[in-house]
Amino acid sequence: MTKNRRTIAELLQLNMPDLEDIKYTCEGKLTAIDTTYGWWYKACYDCKGAVKAYGDTFWCARCGKNDWSPVPWYKLNVIVEDESISTNFIIFGKLAQNIIRVPTQQLAVANNSDKFLLPPIIKSIIGQTYIFEVSINSLKSNLDARSFKVSKFLSTGLDINGKYKEHQKDVQSIYGETDEITIACESQTVIHDEMGSNIMLQST
Ligand SMILES: [Zn+2]
Repeated sequence: MTKNRRTIAELLQLNMPDLEDIKYTCEGKLTAIDTTYGWWYKACYDCKGAVKAYGDTFWCARCGKNDWSPVPWYKLNVIVEDESISTNFIIFGKLAQNIIRVPTQQLAVANNSDKFLLPPIIKSIIGQTYIFEVSINSLKSNLDARSFKVSKFLSTGLDINGKYKEHQKDVQSIYGETDEITIACESQTVIHDEMGSNIMLQST
């Protein structure tokens, strides 16, 4: 999680050819989640693309399927800031579920659930510092908008005040695009520089 490390300002300055198919890492604090467009969307059961209403039914704008009902799917528009600037990253579906630990459907259909109001359990990821692995969000048609999609993120164990949490040396959670949460074992050591400002994980 140190490969192609950039600050957010550097990410925003990259040219399109530098962005395609390349994953960058970036460390920053998740300061807010923008729910202007909701915290979940109706996704195609198959490709997880957004579905469009078509009369009483739906069809997938991406693969054209309409034989099964759409499923609620996380799309967290998170605001991340570092010492350079702040920007938006998108955390989709299973990846969001891995850190929230509750399937979208369960929260989306809960009583009093509001698509534009964050459930408390989602708010718990706000205020923490993470290392994000991001790439350009290819689902976005307007690539100039520089929308970054998170493919992996790692809690650095810092709380909102920049202090280390207890037990952070024993367990670090890495959230990837898999069905399971990967818990890094004790063979990983947390290292930070003398200023205490930079952390990386290193396998021993
Ligand atoms: Zn589809």
